Amino acid sequence: MSCENEHFDAAISSLKRERYRITEPRKALLRLLVDSERPLSAEEAHDRLGSSDYDLVTVYRNLETFETAGIATRILTESGKSLFELNRSEHHHHHIICRKCHRAERLDHCEIEKLETLATKLGFTEVTHVLELYGVCDDCR
Ligand SMILES: [Zn+2]
Ligand SMILES: [Zn+2]
Repeated sequence: MSCENEHFDAAISSLKRERYRITEPRKALLRLLVDSERPLSAEEAHDRLGSSDYDLVTVYRNLETFETAGIATRILTESGKSLFELNRSEHHHHHIICRKCHRAERLDHCEIEKLETLATKLGFTEVTHVLELYGVCDDCR
């Protein structure tokens, strides 16, 4: 079984466990998130689904449902736009987001652990962090 199918099946199981209905629009959207290399906005997901059966509001609501169900993470851009990424059990990473077109790419390296160590030394426990980087991408320059 491919890795993508495992992610898809795991997400479906989570939805079922949380008692969400597995509808065709949800399945199509989930498939899209599983196959996507980078976080997607509701508009992008809507464009890629390319069917009038899936209106933008429904796509957005379903992405929020995925977030609530814990199978996707929302990344908020500087301008307040939401991008959604499937939660895969893989290592910690961040994103660089284009402030013009909202394209987001993964940054697989994290240097923040050093700051977390400092915070721990100040007596804090359960230290986590949220960090996104913003810039202007190749296409938008
Ligand atoms: Zn761009
Ligand atoms: Zn980090």
